[in-house]
Amino acid sequence: MKKYVFITGGVVSGLGKGIAAASLGLILKTRGLKVINQKFDPYLNIDPGTLNPFEHGEVFVTDDGAETDLDLGHYERFTDENLSQSSNTTAGRVYLSVLNTEREGGFHGHTVQVIPNITDEIKRRMLLSSTETDADVIITEIGGTVGDIESLPFIEAIREIKYEVGIENCCYIHLTLMPYIKKAHEMKTKPTQHSVKDLQGLGIQPNVIMLRTEREADEITREKLALFCNVPSEAIIQNLNAKSIYEVPLMMEKEKLGTAVCAALGIPEKQTNLKEWAAMVDRMYHPQHKLKIALVGKYIQLQDAYLSVVESLNHAGIYHNTEINIDWVDAESLTSVEKTYEMLNEADGIIVPGGFGDRGIEGMIFACQFARENKVPYFGICLGMQICVIEYARHVLKLSDANSTEFNKETSNPVISLMDDQEGVPLGGTLRLGKYQCKLTNGSLAQKAYGEELIWERHRHRWEFNNKYRDLFDKSDLNIVGINPERDLVEIVELDASTGHPWMCGGQFHPEFKSRPMRPHPLFREFIGASLKNKQKKDI
Ligand code: GLN
Repeated sequence: MKKYVFITGGVVSGLGKGIAAASLGLILKTRGLKVINQKFDPYLNIDPGTLNPFEHGEVFVTDDGAETDLDLGHYERFTDENLSQSSNTTAGRVYLSVLNTEREGGFHGHTVQVIPNITDEIKRRMLLSSTETDADVIITEIGGTVGDIESLPFIEAIREIKYEVGIENCCYIHLTLMPYIKKAHEMKTKPTQHSVKDLQGLGIQPNVIMLRTEREADEITREKLALFCNVPSEAIIQNLNAKSIYEVPLMMEKEKLGTAVCAALGIPEKQTNLKEWAAMVDRMYHPQHKLKIALVGKYIQLQDAYLSVVESLNHAGIYHNTEINIDWVDAESLTSVEKTYEMLNEADGIIVPGGFGDRGIEGMIFACQFARENKVPYFGICLGMQICVIEYARHVLKLSDANSTEFNKETSNPVISLMDDQEGVPLGGTLRLGKYQCKLTNGSLAQKAYGEELIWERHRHRWEFNNKYRDLFDKSDLNIVGINPERDLVEIVELDASTGHPWMCGGQFHPEFKSRPMRPHPLFREFIGASLKNKQKKDI
């Protein structure tokens, strides 16, 4: 029998529902259950693909090329399950399919309404993961906060769904805020009580209340909340602030979240095994080295825009027993060679992650030039790989106006250009997206990192290395070491070891989506390894 967990949020947004859902996924998985996480977002965009990173943070890409909410990154990193398009649904996608059916005459003359047509479509999509996967437990997070107008159809759908799959197979978790009022030295339960009342008013009685709080919730507070919210006191789970998100599952396990959820779902009690996870967290909390990595980008005011990159750096740091300190460098502040030297001189390694549009590009090129000339490890991701190609073309191959046609359509040396099938297509969902194969050159830095010859990585970009320049680069020290065999596309470039540079590598894909805390991505692992060596050399 499939079991369903629904997670809603109350009082305020930004309480870490995604981390809570991912932590529960991990806890249940280590109890021997097959778990799949999914998220339903109440906004009207079809997906977050066209949203500004400043507004919505990173767009996480799945194997099948879905552009999804960044919480899916947490789910994948915590549960180590690869998700898909059906794992993230927005209200926009729901409405689009209902309205398309209406245009096709699919409603046979009936009035189309939020209830039952929109709610039916939400339920159908919520149950998709149960049919598409062999999961025992499907954890569904509802974006937004209870009480929002736009989340109402979703709340109604999760109320109705229990009559389809059986009340005994559903567990509702409500995550709320319990503020501490300093003056009164008191934890305040009223916001939670009100939020639970809102939820009850919509027909949902939560089974578990999760409290985001800065201070330990005492017994009296727990008893009081249990009484007012109609749940057993074992189902009041505190969710304290953690030093790292990876500690949250351990804290939740201490609070017996797994036991409370399994009790609500009638799943026999089993031991959770978080030993390896706890060892990883312990390792992370006791680093032996420190590194300063400069991240040069254009969205640095909102660090969530680079969430998976940051997490991947941390995973590689855990592997190398190293604390990673990120120096967030606004690409636009790098305005000259001198200024770049001043700003990047302390960095042990430099990373240029993905991005769109021409703002900050020249600064990224300065950063790349600095890394190449001063033999500082450099890792270019997607845009960062294109930057590496442009920089090398300009300063070593002497094609002084080399550029990508994304930034300068008139350049006489379009080393990065659009493929014909990408010319003039509409914006949403039309990038080169998802999983593509890549064949590596034997003996290259990249091949040694992966330890394999044929790999696959996730993509999200429109522009490509221009194959007209292949011969020129083949004769140079910027080696093309990764090729997509189906379309003969350049996927990885790296600087030849004979230049004396320790590690300079760029990939046209997004390795950050595949890194896991206990299995860092090979390229991040090698980049951090090279940065450590670079630092040790400087220290001598
Ligand atoms: N803007 C570049 C392109 O579309 C790079 C995209 C990215 O870094 N994700 O090709």
